[in-house]
Parts: sequence; C-alpha cells; structure tokens
Amino acid sequence: MPAERSFFETVQDELKECAESMQLNDSVLALLSNPVRELHVIFPVAMDDGKTEMFHGYRVQYNDARGPTKGGTRFHPAETIDTLRALASLMTWKCAVMDLPLGGAKGGVICDTKKLSRAELERVSRGYIRAIAQIIAPDKDVPAPDMYTNPQVMAWMIDEYSRMQGKNQFGIITGKPHDLGGSHGRTDATARGGMYTVREAAGVIGLDLKGATVAVQGYGNSGYYAARLAKELFGSKIVAVSDSRGGIYNEKGLDPEAVLAHKEETGTVVGFPGASPVSNDEILELDVDVIAPSALEKAITSENQGRIKAKIVAELANGPTTPNAEKALHERGVHVIPDFLCNAGGVTVSYFEMVQNFYLHYWDEAEVHEKLDKKISKAYHDVVRVSRERNVTMRQAGYVLAVERVMDAMRYRGWI
Ligand code: GLU
Repeated sequence: MPAERSFFETVQDELKECAESMQLNDSVLALLSNPVRELHVIFPVAMDDGKTEMFHGYRVQYNDARGPTKGGTRFHPAETIDTLRALASLMTWKCAVMDLPLGGAKGGVICDTKKLSRAELERVSRGYIRAIAQIIAPDKDVPAPDMYTNPQVMAWMIDEYSRMQGKNQFGIITGKPHDLGGSHGRTDATARGGMYTVREAAGVIGLDLKGATVAVQGYGNSGYYAARLAKELFGSKIVAVSDSRGGIYNEKGLDPEAVLAHKEETGTVVGFPGASPVSNDEILELDVDVIAPSALEKAITSENQGRIKAKIVAELANGPTTPNAEKALHERGVHVIPDFLCNAGGVTVSYFEMVQNFYLHYWDEAEVHEKLDKKISKAYHDVVRVSRERNVTMRQAGYVLAVERVMDAMRYRGWI
C-alpha cells in the first residue's frame, strides 16, 4: 500500500491535475506548488510557574503575485509545517477565486490553548507576533484568527506590533475587536458567505430552500452560524447538528440558538432535549437536502460518498471531501461547493476590514453583508460557468479560475 498522502501533498496533487488540463509548464507548476517564503521561529515565553518555555511558530507566505498575503494564525498542539503549507496554498486559491487583490498565507504556533492560563496565552500571542514582525506589514502580509485564536488574541498581537512600530498599526491584523478597527459582520462572515453560495446553488439545481432539510457537522463558529442563518435567511429546517462528542437529530427541526445554549451549559450538543442521537458519520448520510461539513478534514471519502443522499454539500471546513470522493459525487449529480469558495466569506470580510482600516472609514453591517453577497455570488457563478464549460468538478473549476488569475499576475510582473 502506498503511504497516505499528506494534506499538502493532496493539495499539490490537485494543483498538478489542474496544471495538466491547463498545460502549464514544469517551472510554472514548480512555482505554484511551493510557498515563496517560510519562517520558522522559536521564541521564549515566561510561564506562570516562573520557568521559561520555548515555543515554535511559523508563518508561510505562499504566493504574493496578486497582492499582500493573507491568512489566519492557528494555535494548535499538533501544528505542522505541512498543514500550514497546504492551508497557505488554499488561501492563495481562495483569494484568487474571490478576485480579492491578495495572495495567500497561513501561520501557527505549536501550543495547547486549553493548558495555558490567560496570562500565558497573552505572552505567547505577543511573543509570536514579535518573532514574525519582520516579514509582516499592513500592505505586505496580514494575519487573522483561525483555529483556537480569537479577536482577543488578535488585539494583543496588534498592541505588541504597534508598540514595536511606535504608532498604532491596527491594519496589521484582521478579525480584531470592533473598538480596534475590526469590521462589522466579521463574526458570522464565513457561515454567511457559505449560505449565500448555498442559496445560489439551490437556484442552479432548482431546490426550494424554504422548508428544505439541512444537517450540519460541527458546531463551532461556522457550524452554529450556518445552522442559524439557514433558518433565518431561508426558512430551512435544521434537522441535525453535531460536535466532536456526537450529534443530535429531530425531524421536526432544531432551534439553533437553543442548541447553542445547551452546548454552552453542558459542553456539547449531545443530550439536547427532544432530539435523538446520531453519530458524526451518520449525520452526513442522512436523507436531507443540504449537508454542511463544518468540522473535520476528510469527512467525506471514497468509502462513505456512496451513502451521501444530500443534493448540496457545502464545504465550510477546509478539505472535508477527498478529491476522489468529490469526483464520484459530481458524477452522481451531487453539487459540491468547494471549501475555497464556500468558506471564503471570512477572508472576504477580512479584506473589507483592510480597506476600512486604510481609509479610516467604517461601514455598517448591512453594507458589509451586501458587499459580501455580491462578491461571493459572482465568484460562485464564475466557478459554475468554468465547471460547465470544461465539464469538471466545481473544485477543479475553482482551481482553473484561480490559477489563471495568479498566472496572469505573474506574467504581467515578468515572473514567468
Ligand atoms: N482563517 C480564515 C480562512 O482560513 C480567514 C483568513 C483571513 O481572514 O485572513 O479563510
């Protein structure tokens, strides 16, 4: 048996397949298959017990042909450079598919936030940004929140960076609190963007979302808001949701806010009154109209894709469907909205935040929603068009579109 491909190798394989269909030459492929810059830092942090611990952090800038690089910062105990390269690559294609004037990046620190005190978390955040300060700037590379980081962590980083520069530099990071120049509409932006693409997809395949049944795997920020917005915006029925401990099902529909209150009280959606249990595997195989995998990588594989009954798969997580599974779903007529399109709402509102920071002029929430809707709906239809023209999956179409845009920028700049 060949060894399983790593996340980055899988992403490189997808790019290679797309390169073959676009007849890219080897040197262009080599340039697009690897990050242009990577930084590995080791920085000391004073712990509460008086000892000093060394932390490892990374920042991967994948491709900056189209503009400053952009991407989140993960604080994860099992962080690897391989995952960060894969995610930085996806950020590049995500920004290009959305036609944002940005490149892609990703960063991370190996740490377990659950084991750090608040003061230690603050010192890790400040230590990390100090260590990578030389390669970031508001017009060069702009971090944001990601797994296990949040607006408070962003605020500490901004404060540290501003002190180093001797002036406020709120534009160094997006996804920050509104009082430090954060944009309205950033909190639910990933799910909201995803729901706008679901609405467009429903129009394309002729599905009425009012009363349509929806199952959401994962109940973090994306999953919760996806459930809430599907109900609020479309009147869809959320019949099942799950988190890492398991899932719940009620054919009459669940109230997303009541489920959140239960999760906040007990630590899990499991045990929600009036619902029956369902496993994280079963939730994707329910007889529903829409599934939104919003948690894990590789949730849909060649093994379980045959049992998927949904008409639309909205990939709010990064990498939830393996490439072979996606091809099989495509052949069966299941409409997969690929991650770099479906979850692009977050970075799109981050881009709006950058614009507002540069102008020192802030938009209200309705304006942010309207601009996000326009941008992501257009991107969705661009991808559908290429998918039909070339008879390829939505993901392959997204790659073609994104790679063409990045290549155009590189050509104009004389890189290729
Ligand atoms: N972490 C989010 C993503 O992966 C947002 C990145 C950003 O806002 O820069 O899309």
